[in-house]
Amino acid sequence: MAPEIKYTKIFINNEWFDAASGKTFPTVCPHDGKVIANVAEGDKADIDLAVNAAKKAFHRNSEWRLLDASKRGNIFYKFADLVERDAKYLAELETIDNGMVCTRIQSILATIPDRIRYIASLADKSEGTTIPLDGDTFCYTLKQPVGVCGLILPWNAPILMFINKIIAALAAGCTAIVKPAEQTPLTALALAALMKEAGLPPGVVNVVPGYGETAGVALTHHPDVAKISFTGSLEVGKLVQKAAGANNLKRVTLELGGKSPLVIMNDADLQSAIQYATLGLFLHQGQMCIAASRVFVQSGIYDAFVQAMTTAARSLKIGNPAEVTSQYGPQVDEEMMKKILCYIEKGQVEGAKLVIGGKRIGTQGYYIEPTVFADVQDNMTIAKEEIFGPVQSILKFETLEEVIERSNASHYGLAAGIFTTNVTTALQFSKHVEAGIVWVNTYLVLAPQAPFGGRKESGVGRETGSKCLDEYLDVKAVTYSQPKKL
Ligand code: NAD
Repeated sequence: MAPEIKYTKIFINNEWFDAASGKTFPTVCPHDGKVIANVAEGDKADIDLAVNAAKKAFHRNSEWRLLDASKRGNIFYKFADLVERDAKYLAELETIDNGMVCTRIQSILATIPDRIRYIASLADKSEGTTIPLDGDTFCYTLKQPVGVCGLILPWNAPILMFINKIIAALAAGCTAIVKPAEQTPLTALALAALMKEAGLPPGVVNVVPGYGETAGVALTHHPDVAKISFTGSLEVGKLVQKAAGANNLKRVTLELGGKSPLVIMNDADLQSAIQYATLGLFLHQGQMCIAASRVFVQSGIYDAFVQAMTTAARSLKIGNPAEVTSQYGPQVDEEMMKKILCYIEKGQVEGAKLVIGGKRIGTQGYYIEPTVFADVQDNMTIAKEEIFGPVQSILKFETLEEVIERSNASHYGLAAGIFTTNVTTALQFSKHVEAGIVWVNTYLVLAPQAPFGGRKESGVGRETGSKCLDEYLDVKAVTYSQPKKL
C-alpha cells in the first residue's frame, strides 16, 4: 500500500501554501518508522493568516453567512458523497499515517458519510423559542453561530475527529481553522480538498498542520477565535482552557482522556464479555480515549475470565496494518511506544501479575505485544493513569456497591461498561457510574445520534447527538416592546 500523497501544504482560503517560515516537518509511518512526507509546518504567522481568512468568511455579508442554513447542509451532503467516492484512498492514508489496521478504518469510513449526513441535517434545525414575559413585552431567542472556531485534533482517530468537529461547527454556521495532530496531518488535508470540491466558499475551513506548542498555542490565544474545540490529553486540555480564559474568554469544548471501567458480573455471558473486553482494549492497540482499561471481574468468574482473556489476547493477529489479515498493528510513534513500555515495567514493579505480553515486538516500527495484567490493585499506577496503549488491567471485586465505588474512584469519567443478565444491576450501575457514556452488554458503540463526551476530568461539552450544534451556537434573547399587552 502506497497511497499518493497529494496534499502536504497549508490550506487557507481554498488555496495551498507553504508555511510562512518555509519550514516543514516529517510525518512517519508507524509500521516501519520511515518518513512518508514532509508537511508544511504552520506556526503563529500561518494561524494569523488562517484566522483572518475565517474571520472574513464569517462577516455578516459574506457568501457563507448569507447562505440558507438548509443549503449549508446540502454542501455537506455533497461532501459525504465525495468521502464515499474516495473512501479507499482515505483509508489507505489513515493506515499509513496512523497505523490503524486497514479493516478497522475501512469499517469506520463505511459509516462516515452517514455520520456527516446526520450532523449536516441539523443545520436548519437550530430553533429558538418564544417566551411569555410579564407586561407588554414579547421575547424570542435566536441561536447564532459563535464565530471563528479553532478545532484541535488528536492523532488517534484523525478522520473521525475531523468530521465530528468540522461538520458540527460549519453546520452551525461558524467558520474554522483545523489544527491536526503533528503525528497525523495527512487525512485532514485530504478532507479539506474534498470540502473545497463540495463547494465550500473560501475561508470557511482552513487547515494548518504544525506543532501544538506553536500552531496550537497561537490558535488558543488568538483574540479573534471565539471557540476552541479540543480533543487530546488532559494535560494539554488544561492548558487550552487556561489559554481560552486568558484573553477573550473563548467557549471551550474538551474531549480528553479516560480510565474507563468495564464491569463483568458473575451472571454475565462470559463469551460475549471476553469478546468486548478484547475489542474494548486491544482495538487500535489501546489508542482510544474510551478504552476499557480497567476490567473489574466479579470473584465467581475471575479465574475463568483471566484464563479466557489470556487466550483471546494471544489469538490476536498482529501485523502490518495495511494487510487485511492484521487485527492489531503498531503504536503511533516511538515516543508513545516507550511511554507504554515504561507503564508495563511499572505494573510489574508495583506487583501486578503479567499474564501475557509486555514486550516490544521486533525492532522495526512501534509494535508492542497485547499485554494483560491480572490481580491489579486500585492504587497501582497502571490502574490509575491513562496508558493509551495495549495494556489491560484486570481487577477482582465482590459486590455491585463495591464496584460502583471503585469505578468512580478516578478523576476521569469518560466511558463505562457492564456485562450482566440482571436488568436491575445494569440500571443501578448505569445510573450511579460517573461517566458520560455507558454501555450495557456491549462496548464501543459510537453512533452520531448519541451524545459523546465525558464527566469530571474527561472533558467539557458533548460531540454528536441531536444537540451537538449547540456547542457552536450562542443564544440571543430579543425582547420587543408592544403598544399594549396582547
Ligand atoms: P495531545 O494533547 O498531546 O495533543 C492533541 C492536540 O493538541 C494535537 O493537535 C497537539 O498538537 C495539540 N497541542 C499540544 N500542545 C498544545 C498546546 N499547548 N496548545 C494547543 N494545542 C496543543 O493528545 P494526543 O496525544 O494527540 O491524543 C491522545 C489523547 O487524546 C489521549 O489522552 C486521549 O484519551 C485523548 N482523546 C480523547 C478523545 C475524546 O473524545 N474524549 C478522543 C480521542 C483522543
